[in-house]
Order: sequence, then structure tokens, then C-alpha cells
Amino acid sequence: MSDEFDLVVIGGGSGGLAAAQRAAEYGARVALVESGPLGGTCVNVGCVPKKIMWNAADLGSALIDAPDYGFNLTTQGHDWKGLKHKRDAYVSLLNGIYAANLAKRNVELVRARASFHDAHTVSAADRTLGAAHIIIATGGRPAMPTIPGVELGLSSDGFFLLPERPRRVAVVGGSYIAVELAAIFAGLGSQVTLVLRGESVLRSFEPMLGEAALKSLRDEGIEVATHAAPSALVKKPDGTLELEVAGGRQLGPFDAVQFAIGRDAVVEGMGLVLAGVALNARGYIGTDKFQATNVPGIYAIGDVTGRVQLTPVAIAAGRRLCDRLFGGQAGRYLDYENIPTVIFGHPPIGTVGLTEHAARERFGSENVRVFRSSFVPLYHAITTAKVRVEMKLVTTGLEERIVGVHIVGAGADEMLQGFAVALRMGATKQDFDDTVAIHPTSAEELVTMR
Ligand SMILES: Cc1cc2nc3c(=O)[nH]c(=O)nc-3n(C[C@H](O)[C@H](O)[C@H](O)COP(=O)(O)OP(=O)(O)OC[C@H]3O[C@@H](n4cnc5c(N)ncnc54)[C@H](O)[C@@H]3O)c2cc1C
Repeated sequence: MSDEFDLVVIGGGSGGLAAAQRAAEYGARVALVESGPLGGTCVNVGCVPKKIMWNAADLGSALIDAPDYGFNLTTQGHDWKGLKHKRDAYVSLLNGIYAANLAKRNVELVRARASFHDAHTVSAADRTLGAAHIIIATGGRPAMPTIPGVELGLSSDGFFLLPERPRRVAVVGGSYIAVELAAIFAGLGSQVTLVLRGESVLRSFEPMLGEAALKSLRDEGIEVATHAAPSALVKKPDGTLELEVAGGRQLGPFDAVQFAIGRDAVVEGMGLVLAGVALNARGYIGTDKFQATNVPGIYAIGDVTGRVQLTPVAIAAGRRLCDRLFGGQAGRYLDYENIPTVIFGHPPIGTVGLTEHAARERFGSENVRVFRSSFVPLYHAITTAKVRVEMKLVTTGLEERIVGVHIVGAGADEMLQGFAVALRMGATKQDFDDTVAIHPTSAEELVTMR
């Protein structure tokens, strides 16, 4: 006999929690199955602890600038262990808050690994949960290279377990996570080598952003090894690590090697075949615009679908799906265009909309006009370090509708959200120009560009 629900959600990360709670708010009987800590990747080994580490590295930069602002400081280094302790305590607090939020909404939390029995039934420990609607929100996990000695390296999950700051560290990869972790290590005092397969980072983004990110990483003292696809990781007799890369080159010695080369979907051992759920060619669960899989009544949201792998995207997809299934809002779905995102480098990088290249392809080169700006912000006018701000607006048509906003520089992370609203509403360059600037800020440049 199965316990019957209106909705069973598999996975209590960003997407699963959001979906379960939204459905319950509409009065649905909901069970959520989670095999690990609540909150998933974002809360436990992603956005939240990452941003805390970024804050620490950012404070480190401020300490470097402080003498230029008249402070006479002596610091005693950085207490990684102490920070980790506080960070872990905060994450535990969040785990508890999520459990309380589910209880408040009468969502039944089943702490187990779930697998499909058939298209309408899920097994979880000794329970059998039946539902007309089942949402798969099992997320992703770090991909690791298939090279000898890979187990000596760290995944991004491993980064958050590091008890001490490694003195010399290699960060392998050009993804946004690689850029972020490299900047954090460097900002907190590690000697960092960024190991790239090609020559650039952030390749899926506007090229200006990757170029600026690479420059800022180099300016922070990070060594960049290019055309250096790893072939083996070796532990030397003195305990240090050496990374063998393409062309027989050896990099090191390192105290830690951090991999950040991408993420895979968590789909194995779930009985997807028993339910008839198909994976796409990339190994993710394919969905239509309503998050529906190929099996009626089974949906997938978040990282496991391989589309725009970000927390607010998983949340939005889950909420809209449940608005549709249980809230009487037929036709509601998440539009995956114009999703703003920030890469938390030093400085941060914000981007929304089309790259210049994508705009030219979509609208025709003659219909695209680009505005650029590059300047030293006022903050750095009197500091030794001169960290520039780079901005690009991509517009289309005679009315110069804004279709892309790309910003590198201090404050880009907080600046972007409002501009993303403007872009979504169809703002034109004239709307930007007609908006009175806030002075003195870096953001004002976005409404005064010529
Ligand atoms: C280092 C790092 C930094 C990041 N930084 C950011 C950021 O700054 N901003 C941002 O927006 N995004 C960031 N992300 C991405 C973000 O974390 C993910 O997009 C988001 O967590 C996806 O949510 P999800 O619900 O799809 O999956 P997840 O959050 O991964 O949740 C999936 C859950 O399903 C559970 N599960 C899996 N299989 C089963 C099963 N069979 N039975 C029961 N439970 C199961 C897992 O234990 C997990 O808790 C970052 C990711 C990483 C790795």
C-alpha cells in the first residue's frame, strides 16, 4: 500500500523546497524526499558558503586599500579555520530553518534516497509514496576529470571541507566556479595557479567578461597556465602534489589541487527507466517549457534539467510549475531568456541578456549598436590598486532597445538586478539616458554612456 499525496518532490534543494512549499500553500498534500541536508547544493556546498568566503576575500582587498584611506593597520593573517567554523554553523542554522518551514506548511519530509517504483510511485526507505504529480529536483554534482590520481584533488564540494587554507593551490577549469574559487584562494593569501585547457575563462559569457576576469586574476598575482589540460595528478614523496598537463609539462608543487570543470546531473540509481523518464543527449532530464518530462505527471526542475544552473532559476521553475499544477494558473511557465547572473570574482561580474555576438546573430549586425565604457572608479582614484570597471550595453533596432547589459567592477553584483528589470521591460537607450544619474557611483555610467 502506498501513502497517497497530490505531489511528491524528489530532492530538497533550491528547486524542490520552493516547489513543495508553493504547492502546499495552495492546499496540496505534499511529500518531499531528501537524502542529504536540506537546502541542497546552494545552501550546503554552493552559493551561501561560497559568498561567505567571497566576503572574506573582499574584506582582504579592503584591508590592502585601507592604508590609502588613512588607516594604519597591522593584521595577523587570516583565520580560515575560525571562518569555516562560523560558516558551517550558519549553514546548520539554515538547514534547521528549512525543516521548520516545511513543517509549518505541512509538507511531509521523508529523509531517504528516493527511486521510482513506476510512473506514479516512489520508494523512499521503507515507504512507498504515490502521487498524480512527481517532481524530480535532484540537482547536480561536480564533474571530475578521468585522470590518474584525480582522487588526490578536490571537487567544489571538497573546497568547503578544507580545514586550512592551502599555501599553494592549483585551480583547474575556466568555469565561473573556477574563477570564483581562484579569486577566493588568492584573496585570502594562497599562491594560485589557474590551469586552463584553452586560453580563456567564462567562455559561455560575453567575451569582454572573460577577458576582464582573466586580467583581474592576473593582477591579483594568480599565475595562469594555458593549453594545460590535466593528464595526471601525482603525490610526491614530500606530500606535495604535482599536476601533469598537456605536452608533458609538470605544474607544482601544490598543497591542494582544486577541480572546477563543470557539473553532471544526479540521475543514477533513481529507477528512471522504471518510470520511463528519458535523458537527453547531454545526460540531463529533458523537459518542455512547462518543465514536463516525456512521462505525463512527471516533471523536472533545476540543475538536473541542465538549463541555466542557478538557484533562483530552480526556485522560479518550481514555483511556476506549482502555480500551474495547483494554483489554477494555466499557461504559467519560466522564461529562460534574460536571466541575470553574477560571477563573484574580485571584482564581481554581472551579466544579463545577449552577448554582442548573439545579438548580431539574432538581429543582424547592422541592427546592433554597442556602447562601452572603461574607467577607474572613484574608490580607486586614491588607492595604489587600480581595479577598473568595464561596461557594455548591447542594443538593437532604431529605438536602441537594450538586449544586453554586462558589467565588471566593484558593485556589479548589486547593480545588475535593477537593470535586469529594465531590460526585461524592454527599456531603450533613450530610457537609460532619460534616467537621472546617481552621483558619484559607478552605476551612473550605465545611464550616461555615449
Ligand atoms: C560552488 C558553487 C557555487 C554556486 N554559486 C551560486 C551562486 O552564487 N548563485 C546561484 O544562483 N547559484 C549558484 N550555484 C548553483 C546552485 O547551487 C544550483 O543551481 C542550485 O542549487 C540548483 O538547485 P536544485 O534544486 O536544482 O538542486 P540542488 O540544490 O543540488 O538540490 C538537489 C537535492 O536533491 C537531493 N537528492 C539527489 N538525489 C536524490 C534522491 N534520489 N533522493 C532524495 N534526494 C535526492 C540532493 O541531496 C540535494 O539536496 C553554485 C553551485 C556551486 C557548486
